[in-house]
Amino acid sequence: MDLVPEVSAQLEELSAWRRHLHAHPETAFEEAATSAFVAEKLAGFGLEVHRGLGKTGVVGVLRGSAGGHEAAAVGLRADLDALHIHERTGVAHASRTHGKMHACGHDGHITMLLGAAGALARRRERLRGTVYFIFQPAEENEGGGRVMVEEGLFERFPMSAVYGMHNWPRMPLGKMAMRAGPLMAGYDVFEIVGKGKGAHAAMAYEGKDPMPFAAHVINALQTIVSRNLHPLDAGVVSVTQVHGGDTWNVIPEDVVLRGTVRAFKRDIQDLIEARMRGIVHGAAAMFDMTATVHYERRYPATVNAPEPTQRAAKAARAVVGDQNVDLNPTPNMGSEDFAFMLQKKPGCYVWLGTGKGADTAGLHNPHYDFNDDALGIGASYWVTLAEQELAAA
Ligand SMILES: [Zn+2]
Ligand SMILES: [Zn+2]
Repeated sequence: MDLVPEVSAQLEELSAWRRHLHAHPETAFEEAATSAFVAEKLAGFGLEVHRGLGKTGVVGVLRGSAGGHEAAAVGLRADLDALHIHERTGVAHASRTHGKMHACGHDGHITMLLGAAGALARRRERLRGTVYFIFQPAEENEGGGRVMVEEGLFERFPMSAVYGMHNWPRMPLGKMAMRAGPLMAGYDVFEIVGKGKGAHAAMAYEGKDPMPFAAHVINALQTIVSRNLHPLDAGVVSVTQVHGGDTWNVIPEDVVLRGTVRAFKRDIQDLIEARMRGIVHGAAAMFDMTATVHYERRYPATVNAPEPTQRAAKAARAVVGDQNVDLNPTPNMGSEDFAFMLQKKPGCYVWLGTGKGADTAGLHNPHYDFNDDALGIGASYWVTLAEQELAAA
């Protein structure tokens, strides 16, 4: 492990910041105290601080003093938000806010990027160009990354590439992984409403029961991936909610099904949506009912560009060593709104191993707590990446 000395010197402080953030989680677009914490630290390092992009977003600007190309600039991004989960870790720094928790490790992401900002500010005499530290709100579900892009992130802060990182507890501490092409899947949500006709449950022939419709649709949706997708294309269709009926002896008027779709390619998302509509309307016709499908695209796939991926790998190797960098990890069907930034700028999103053994709790688990031993590794990666990127510009 080759940590940047300016990072090594502040490991205890970084851990204290991370635990403070963990104890005070805030969810999508309400990250006011988190955002203020970030802004105060950045200002303390002597950075120019811009607030309010994406409501609670913060951008710190560090201009190097080693000369170099006037326009050379790179963006490094972290996410600010927590989740609606009731924490069960039992740690001393557990959430003080009932029902909210940093269960995705964004507390660690904020801390590592702050650590990098502090270290790079102290090394600014060797920095050739500008580093933008992007702290975005609302990664979970609400697409704060998209909002920052729409509000002019890349126009206000022109950069040649943008980089992201997520802690990965399934991968051991000290390992990093990235690949050119898709790493995280696209994310869609759907709501299906089947409308029948209510009746006494003992006189079903007087109604149009939406329950058999729901049962058929749930089963038939599973044939999209198994029967309509090319076997080498990936897709997931999950029905996660079924709502209908209130009591034993009443056939309800309608039933609502909700769920999510994941895929790596836009045309696969299109195919799944089209097949879903066909199945739902076909089933409605079969049971003499009507049905509606509301299908919504949330996040595109997170797709890394080839050259930035090579540069990310080079920086990762410099920190964790050649043998600990995996350039061909299996992509994950989870999703990430950094995808919106990668749609506008070339860049690379990497996974940082934070696993502490077989029983490490996974992301979004109420027992999850970011592994502070990874703070120095992640911050050193950021510092190394920024310096290498600008030196090559
Ligand atoms: Zn998450
Ligand atoms: Zn996350």
